Amino acid sequence: MEEVKTCRVCGETKLLSEFAKSGKKNGSGYKAHCKVCAAKKLHDWRQSNPEKAKQQDRRWYNNNKDKVKIKNQKRYTNLTLDEKFQQLVKTATERKKIKCYRDWETR
Ligand SMILES: [Zn+2]
Repeated sequence: MEEVKTCRVCGETKLLSEFAKSGKKNGSGYKAHCKVCAAKKLHDWRQSNPEKAKQQDRRWYNNNKDKVKIKNQKRYTNLTLDEKFQQLVKTATERKKIKCYRDWETR
């Protein structure tokens, strides 16, 4: 039988895999609210604190700049020449589309 836990926020009983680990040694070792509620809470917080959320994003980016860069580089260098070309064409067409849309909007 799989272990379950009741979410303190939505009151639903879900599998432990639906809960994030709390990192605390005491208790169940899992957070009191499920992942869905945690995501919702974060979303609500970002909605009501857009400036703080932006700041946090920036701070996260500054702390993980190198990791992000390496990740992006890896993603790009792993591509074959053909795929790189496809990617370039794709971004170019998307940019064009956005531009057309903007032109249309200002008309
Ligand atoms: Zn929940």
